[in-house]
Amino acid sequence: MGGRARAEVELEQLAQQIRYHEAAYRAGVPEIPDSEFDDLVDRYQELAEQLGVDPSERLDLQPGAEHTVGFETVAHRVPMLSLEKLSPSRRDSSGQAMPLVDQLNAWFRRRKNELEVDELPLIVEPKVDGISVSLTYARGKLQRAVTRGDGQKGDVITKQVRQLGTVALELEGVRKGELEIRGELYWPLSDFARYNATLEKPLINPRNGCAGMMKRKDPAGLEETGIRSFLYHVAWDDGVELPSTQRDVLEWLADRGGEVYSSEVFQTSSAKKALDYCENYQTRRSKLNYDIDGMVIKIDDLTLYPRLGATGHHPHWGIAYKFPPERKATKLLDIEVSVGKSGKLTPVAILEPVFVSGTTVSRASLHNFVELERKDVRIGDTVLVEKAGEIIPQVVEVDKSQRKRGARRFVPPHACPTCGTEVVREEIFVYCPNPACPDQVRERLRHFASRQAMDIDGLGEVLVDQVVDKLGVRSPDELFRLEVDDLASLERMGTKSAERVKAGLEEAKGRGLARVLNGLAIRHVGETMAEDLAAYFKTADALLAFAERYAKGDEEAIELVAPAKSSDRGVIEGLARKTADSIFLELASPAVRKVLDGLADVGVSRSVQAAEVREVAAVAGKTFVLTGTLPTLKRTEATKRIKAAGGKVSGSVSKKTDYVVAGADPGSKLDKAQSLGVTVIDEAELLELLGGQAE
Ligand code: AMP
Ligand code: ZN
Repeated sequence: MGGRARAEVELEQLAQQIRYHEAAYRAGVPEIPDSEFDDLVDRYQELAEQLGVDPSERLDLQPGAEHTVGFETVAHRVPMLSLEKLSPSRRDSSGQAMPLVDQLNAWFRRRKNELEVDELPLIVEPKVDGISVSLTYARGKLQRAVTRGDGQKGDVITKQVRQLGTVALELEGVRKGELEIRGELYWPLSDFARYNATLEKPLINPRNGCAGMMKRKDPAGLEETGIRSFLYHVAWDDGVELPSTQRDVLEWLADRGGEVYSSEVFQTSSAKKALDYCENYQTRRSKLNYDIDGMVIKIDDLTLYPRLGATGHHPHWGIAYKFPPERKATKLLDIEVSVGKSGKLTPVAILEPVFVSGTTVSRASLHNFVELERKDVRIGDTVLVEKAGEIIPQVVEVDKSQRKRGARRFVPPHACPTCGTEVVREEIFVYCPNPACPDQVRERLRHFASRQAMDIDGLGEVLVDQVVDKLGVRSPDELFRLEVDDLASLERMGTKSAERVKAGLEEAKGRGLARVLNGLAIRHVGETMAEDLAAYFKTADALLAFAERYAKGDEEAIELVAPAKSSDRGVIEGLARKTADSIFLELASPAVRKVLDGLADVGVSRSVQAAEVREVAAVAGKTFVLTGTLPTLKRTEATKRIKAAGGKVSGSVSKKTDYVVAGADPGSKLDKAQSLGVTVIDEAELLELLGGQAE
């Protein structure tokens, strides 16, 4: 293969990986750390440029993180921008990785040039990981508290902040004038742990917990959370006498009863020393009673700020340093291959147990064999492990300097490790094509019964395993044929539990087409695709009839879902030709038809349930793009509601997008929306469109 051909193959593989990981990210189950995702995108961009790929065909994705909600919204007098960041993945014009110290020096030099000074004192503060808040005081009394929102306007949370009892309601000794203080609402770790222990469903982490709490409509009880604030900035003032340096402003705030981290700040006129301080701060991080995700380096002299200006995204008076995620070295003992519900073979790293970000890790997914090869992972290697989104363990890289002579390359299997069937390759993935493969049968039934699919009460994984092993169940319809006596004969199952499972099965019969389709574990048909198919075809019969036409090569059918012209949209959002082929060929297969017929025989509903679609005029037929994490509505929940109301949700912004739902710290999707003149709304407005449904 020539160089160009090889680059094209790599580009295509990268594109597939990026799409895959973006979908995982959007579904709230990221599998790789953001930094690694960025690396994939960087490499993609590099190759795309090298190959001269047409801009309209290039992937354009940058998942942002932001939020907003259904509260009274007000405009910020001074926008609440995000901070420019020092980034480990930044490269200089020749493509060389740029050390952080060079990045900071460059930033520092630009500021000095702008100001025409040789010496410029800096101050370094911890960057607390909470939610930003704007506090307006008049004659020393708190008037209003507002969230960052989308940076231009935020939500009024005055009642909630007052109720906390920890944020200064009054600035002691200030009797005149007006000012706006910016700060961070955060949940001290000990208070968070104490509060969380009282909840049935624990909150994921203090930051999200804090955001959720502050968006409670009814503030009663918020004083029990222990949420506090750090104040760190005065955005504007009118008739208040303020000191002229950041250092002194922090002290001024503290003297007037505001909580600040004045004991934690560092002053220097050297960029290098500022960076050293940031890097060394990590050792203190674990001893703090609050989460910090980095440090902020600011120019200390406030009188210079008006001359510094800002870009549309960042003020020029400061830059943020982010801590790298915790990364631990351990030994890769072995690589196992697991078989998933649709037959996908996934390499899994078996690790010498290692403690990372709060838990012991001994297994980590290696995603796919292409990635395995790209990272050149070998058995016996020392590998570095970290957690994606602080949750899912990852092998991020191999420490090649530690590679021993005996380290073994892993050869992707040619046959399924469970049933021995010869594998098939599709794009970057490897599959066992045998639908009767024991691992697949088990995984499919587990999936069918699971909460995301048919949600069969009482039928958990352990019971599914028994039903397969002891009762010989092989396909979903057979589950519904089980009698109470059959179930009661299983280990640790009394008549009572068996009756509960039977009742669970009865109830599940009415879940509707979308869940049935999702439950079948058809390749490329996850929750979203299942919902889209169900919404369009309405019944299994219509869908199967269509699949048959498609499989026979009926051009009209193909054009309907996968238009030849890539600028046209098919009736199913974001469905590419290759994926459509795979989905409809599988749907048209005798195996799938048999299962669906079997389900009909046992009385499982195979049409859209009325409750699944309840069109809302303002939303029906409109295309939405969501960006970031929403505090009250999970991204999946927001998507579900939009779809239930008859709208579509797309992953990227185009002229055809009707609304972009954006929040704080908006990413490139917002820029794109603005440049295309697409309407940007926040969560509050979305909820309003949906008919003012409260949380
Ligand atoms: P980012 O959202 O990552 O761009 O960072 C900007 C945010 O950092 C601000 O909106 C604040 O909420 C937060 N932050 C935390 N600590 C500080 C600090 N010491 N100075 C400025 N911003 C801070
Ligand atoms: Zn197999």
